[in-house]
Formats: sequence, C-alpha cells, structure tokens
Amino acid sequence: MSKPSGPIPDGFAAQDGVLLLGGRRADALVEEAGGTPLFVYDPGIVARQIDRFRRAFDDVQLHYAVKANPYEPLLRWIASRVDGLDVASEGEMRAALGSGAAAEHVSFAGPGKRDEELAAAIAAGVTLNLEGEGEAQRALALAARIGMRPRLAVRVNPDFEIRGSGMRMGGSATPFGVDAERVPALVRSLVAAGADWRGFHIYAGSQALEAEALVETQRATVALAASLAREAGAPPPLVNLGGGFGLPYFHGQQPLDVERVGAALGEALAARPLILRPTRFAIELGRWLVGEAGVYLTRIVERKESRGRTFFITDGGMHHQLAASGNFGQVVRRNYPVAIATRFGAPAEEEASLVGCLCTPLDRLADDVMTPRAEAGDLVAVFLAGAYGLSASPQAFLAHPPAREMLVGAPNSPP
Ligand SMILES: *Cc1c(COP(=O)(O)O)cnc(C)c1O
Repeated sequence: MSKPSGPIPDGFAAQDGVLLLGGRRADALVEEAGGTPLFVYDPGIVARQIDRFRRAFDDVQLHYAVKANPYEPLLRWIASRVDGLDVASEGEMRAALGSGAAAEHVSFAGPGKRDEELAAAIAAGVTLNLEGEGEAQRALALAARIGMRPRLAVRVNPDFEIRGSGMRMGGSATPFGVDAERVPALVRSLVAAGADWRGFHIYAGSQALEAEALVETQRATVALAASLAREAGAPPPLVNLGGGFGLPYFHGQQPLDVERVGAALGEALAARPLILRPTRFAIELGRWLVGEAGVYLTRIVERKESRGRTFFITDGGMHHQLAASGNFGQVVRRNYPVAIATRFGAPAEEEASLVGCLCTPLDRLADDVMTPRAEAGDLVAVFLAGAYGLSASPQAFLAHPPAREMLVGAPNSPP
C-alpha cells in the first residue's frame, strides 16, 4: 500500500517536465551551483508570505526568527523587509547585525546565555530577552562593568500553552522564560536598577494550524501582558506575542487561516486594557515565513529493487534535511511533499521509497510514495525545506560533502 506524500505548496510549476524554482529550471540551477545536493530558496515566496502577513495584521510588527534559516543571503534579503530579527545565540546575533539590521531591532532569546554572549549583546545594543532571574543579575552586573545601560526584556513562561488544537491552561515547568507569577518582581527590579526595560516576550508554542488555537492564545497573551504590567507598575514598550504559525507538511493537514488570526488579534488589540495603550506589538515567525521558500534537490544515484520494493537512493539525505526523515520531533513518521523534479507533473506509475546515502536505516526521505518511473540521474525535490533544513541537520554525520545553498530569482531591489 502506497503512502501519501504531503501537499506541495502552491505555485510550483514545470517547464518541459522540469520543476521551476523562482522561474528557473531545477536542472539548470543544479548545474549553476556545481551539483547536488542543493537547497534552493526563492525570496519571491518569502515576499508572498510577508505581504500576506502585512495585509492580515494591522499595526503589528513582524519579526523573523533567524534559527529557522540563517543562510546569509536570505537573511540579508529578509532583514530589510521585516521590523526585527530574533536570535538565539551570539553567532545568530552577529549574522543579524551583519545582515544590516540595526541593533535596536535585534532581540536575543535562549536559555544558557554565557557571560561573553550577554556582554557582547549589551555592548552591541541588542535587546536581551531574559530567561531567568539569574541571567538578569548577570546582565545587570556585566552592563555596569561595561558602563552601558542594557536593553532588557523579560521572556515570560505563561500559565498556558498552545497545543495542536486549542490552548491548554496550566503552563509547564521549562528552562525557557520566567514563570509568569515571578515576572512582576523581576520587572520592578530591572526598572529600579536603571535598565532600559523593553517589555515582554511571550512565546507559547509552534507549528499551529488551527486559527482558533492561535486566536485564543493571543487573547490570553494580551491579557497576561496587561496583568503583569499592572502588577509591575510599568507599561511595556513592546509585547512580542510569539508566533507559532504552522505550515501543512503532511497529507490531510490544512493551511492556517492567517487572515482570521489577524482579524481576531485586531479586535483584541482595539479592546486592550488601558495600561497597554502605548504598547507596540510584534509577532515573530520563522517556519511560516521561509518554510515554503526552500526546496532540497538531490540526484538519484541508484535505482534498486529489493524483495519486490523499489528504492531510489539519492546523493542527499537526513544529514541535510533531518526533518524530512522524521527524526526531528515527529512522533509518527509521515512523508513530506516530494517529487521527481525532472519528471514534474508526469503521471505516477510506480511505488518507491526515496532514501538518502547514509549508512543507517534512519535515512529516509519518503516511504512508499507513488512516483513517475525514474532512473539514476533524475533529480528529487523535497519541498518545505526552507525552515529547519540544513542548519537543523547533522551535516557532519558520516562525512559526506556539505550541501550547497542558493537564492534564486531574488527580487533584489530593497522594498
Ligand atoms: C524557534 C522560535 C521561534 C520560531 O518558531 P517558528 O515555529 O519557526 O515560527 C520564535 N520564537 C522563539 C522564541 C523561538 O525559540
């Protein structure tokens, strides 16, 4: 029995049976890049997502979470089109500042920030999203030593979280953020110490496809921000509402109704409590902005039969695209959207499994999918490779060559 592959995102077409990426043929791009495996990113698709966000959300800032895809040319392209960059290490902070973002538009979250990282962020003028009281003490002490007024926000561990569908009350114990009930005292101490207090960062989950789940979470987030601000006696300049917008990766999943989320947030903000009147709001997105913009191209090295099953063995695999192998947070392995890029749109004729070249049974790109008849030399496309792809994969595992990356068809002019 064949298994379905996930839905190919909108807008992909073929020319003479070859997949087009940013208007260019996949085989020509591979030749230009010098071979496979190759990640191709199309900024036109990121632009489509940014436009959609801007139309759906009125007067809400858009931040990009760099960890979704830190590829430098893509980051530089995105940096001039969003209102802020959210980073989670000193390396990402350097990349963000190098991409042209102003320090006041960069915020740095993440547990376990080392003293050197805190000092570098304070010296650069980047906002630290504090993950705990201990980190707050270290940041204040380092700022005093450097002689700088630190920009500090507090990441709140809310007393709710978004799950697959619907919000769960009762937050969990986590290494991330400060438990909501302890936040007001921390904010008062930061303000008393003379820090430049920037506000709250409240992130309640990821990969949500249900608009109602996000709507509920955002309403609860606004209410929580207001009550924390009242208790702390300090209106927050910015409330980062988190993100969590998901993409449909697997058969049967439906895309998020972003317009519905935007309209509901608009209503919630119009009715927000007085203490939040001067506050600006931001949403930080990684996956939803860049996921669909990336395609991972590999070449079939061998077509192989074993006990009645067909395997296309490619020159790529889980060392570049771990998530498609099902080993990055999936409970039940399901197929990503895949296609034979050099026979795109041809009728499906046979059932085959697409696997990688690593010497481990974990290295699968798609199990038992229906494909056109393909041969060694054909190109395989794995879609939805733009977020948590190469940088979230164990590239050193088994010492195969690194993947190439390229931007294609970049609308190069600044917005
Ligand atoms: C990873 C992360 C994001 C991005 O999440 P996506 O699901 O990719 O949108 C946003 N904020 C924080 C704090 C994160 O750690």
